[in-house]
Amino acid sequence: MSETTTRAEKAARIRHLFQTEGEAVFENTNHINNGRYEANARTDDIEELRSTARRIKEDAIERLPELIEEIRESVEANGGTVYLADDAADANRYITEVVEDNDAESVVKSKSMTSEEIDVNEALEANDVGVYETDLGEFVLQVADEAPSHLVGPAFHKSTEEIAELFNAHFDPETPFETATDLTQFARDYVGEQIRDADVGMTGANFVFAESGTIALVTNEGNARKCAVTPETHVAVAGIEKLIPSVREFPPFAELIAKAAGGQDIATYLSLLSPPVDSPVIDFENPDEPLSGGGPEDREFHLVLIDNGRTAMREDDELRETLYCIRCGACANSCANFQHVGGHAFGGETYTGGIATGWEAGVHGQESAAEFNDLCTGCSRCVNACPVKIDIPWINTAVRDRINRGADPERFDSLVEGLTPDEEPGGLDVQKRLFGNYGTLARLGSATAPVSNWLADLGPSRALMERAFGVDRRRELPAFERTTLRDWFADREPLPSADDGDRSAVIYPDAYTNYVLVNRGKAAVRTLEALGVDVAVAPCYESGRAPLSQGMIETARTNATRVADSLEPSIEAGRDVVVIEPSDLAAFRREYDRLLPADRAENLAEHSYEIMEYVYGLLENGADAAVLEGGADVAYHSHCQQRTLGVDVYTEEVLSKLDYDVVTSDVECCGMAGSFGYKSEYYELSMEVGDTLREQFEGETDRTLVASGASCHEQLGSLFPRESVHPIELVAPR
Ligand code: SF4
Repeated sequence: MSETTTRAEKAARIRHLFQTEGEAVFENTNHINNGRYEANARTDDIEELRSTARRIKEDAIERLPELIEEIRESVEANGGTVYLADDAADANRYITEVVEDNDAESVVKSKSMTSEEIDVNEALEANDVGVYETDLGEFVLQVADEAPSHLVGPAFHKSTEEIAELFNAHFDPETPFETATDLTQFARDYVGEQIRDADVGMTGANFVFAESGTIALVTNEGNARKCAVTPETHVAVAGIEKLIPSVREFPPFAELIAKAAGGQDIATYLSLLSPPVDSPVIDFENPDEPLSGGGPEDREFHLVLIDNGRTAMREDDELRETLYCIRCGACANSCANFQHVGGHAFGGETYTGGIATGWEAGVHGQESAAEFNDLCTGCSRCVNACPVKIDIPWINTAVRDRINRGADPERFDSLVEGLTPDEEPGGLDVQKRLFGNYGTLARLGSATAPVSNWLADLGPSRALMERAFGVDRRRELPAFERTTLRDWFADREPLPSADDGDRSAVIYPDAYTNYVLVNRGKAAVRTLEALGVDVAVAPCYESGRAPLSQGMIETARTNATRVADSLEPSIEAGRDVVVIEPSDLAAFRREYDRLLPADRAENLAEHSYEIMEYVYGLLENGADAAVLEGGADVAYHSHCQQRTLGVDVYTEEVLSKLDYDVVTSDVECCGMAGSFGYKSEYYELSMEVGDTLREQFEGETDRTLVASGASCHEQLGSLFPRESVHPIELVAPR
């Protein structure tokens, strides 16, 4: 099958999902996402909680073998059994034996992604055991015979109307279900009956405490606890990474999981059980007849701890962090692509959302991760969402790099030879190789402009680019400037005011600013000089952002080294580094830590500033704001990386100081995300994501459109018939 066919099929599948499931996913994920923002804002010590939780998980994974031994002893001391399953087949064999030994005909289950991972339902059903899901979302999916689309909300892709239609067709009630209340009441009664009749109850466990053999169940429906304590035999299935030392470490997680997963201060049901439970379960309607036996001696408990690749993940420097995940789903909710297509596109065999790449690569293998890994654009909006501070974009990049390296090295890719002086092995997808070498492409495009622009725009060229490289012909291409920022800078006299202050800076000219959006670079020079800064412009070397986005880590490392080599002498000479493109600043402050020796990365991060952050600092330190332009109405879209770094506030502050009236977008990402929106398989999704931004600004026809990122600028150009500018172009002296 040709690349073109594969891309067309992928585009069609994604289109189908955003048309059929996108609306419900968007509504549900945004609802939770906004709740998370509000819940976190109400929590003064949220960052401290996140750091504490992170430390606990790091320690627990480090001490995992020891904790496994400890939990074995504590559960056995409580009267239960621990079984450590190597893989899914081993776990299913054990669980099936437990069910057989109990002559069980039915098993009730609470929500558990780990049980989805091992396909335990299929294993039990193959043995003629009836399996009943009791979590409302899982129950809906069991009726619909569909897979979960979200870690926390398995049926997030279904609207109330769709569920009502499904239940009316399946259960044929006397009075058709219409509302969420009708459906919930029915489900509660139906599921309640299954729980009362079941022989075995199966739960997951959000946390397992080694010291006491206690499990924590965190839910909003309460059926998990009923499954654990009503049938006389309880099987809890949990990945080994769920172990933490003791209940003393639980408080930060109890808070964080509720906020991250549900936007709540605390979950509705929070059960800590040390099974076998030692008290009868009361039936409140008939208090004299307990729902279950009278004490632990009548009850059986099996804790099935699943390895299934986790020990290998623990040994793997790139995947180890995945084991800190508490499965809250916040990374999915905060992801613009996920919000529009959901987990049936953005997910593998079991896991969905940003962290799914780590889980799928670890437990099912790289092939499962390869199916959806490219849907992560590296926008980094999930980074601050994660309650345990997992660097999810890096896991996606690292796995993408491994997937690239698994390609057939003999595969023909000489189409882009010469344009692509990278460090990658043969066989890499030509589309990735092309976009990963954007810096070289831009340099050649600029050197041959305007012919390069004219040629690239011809119909046959666009058709060829689409066929050969998957560059969607509907997307307008950036036009290269013949006179680069560095050329312009070399040919001019500095403003007299450039010597007035006591600061000197070097502007880092990213490939976009140097070859395409040259005006924003000129505006940066003019602004800084007007504010009394002695300005230099560094050589233009690609930061590594472009190859990183394609999973080309070695190329990114080479680029990072070259950038550090070129900027360090300026830093040494006392210049601050000023960066115009937010994604490059993010590379300096986040990814360079993984690409350069720690001291070099730290030095560059410490001395680098985003341009508006720098202007803000100058104004705060007495520079004269009157030399800048002010006082207009603008609609501003900040860049996703800028928001993750927390520097978007400086743009808003500067604009407000200069009397601009600003309307700000609150979408997580514009949808363009570097090269993502150019790719033919993702163009339509990119525009679908962008549509949310278009809706936010469509009434603002009199406002100047302002965007900080180059790709946001391109996307705004596709969404609106008027041009947008960088904030520095707005405020720069004319
Ligand atoms: S990676 Fe973080 S945000 Fe994503 S599900 Fe895991 S804990 Fe939640």
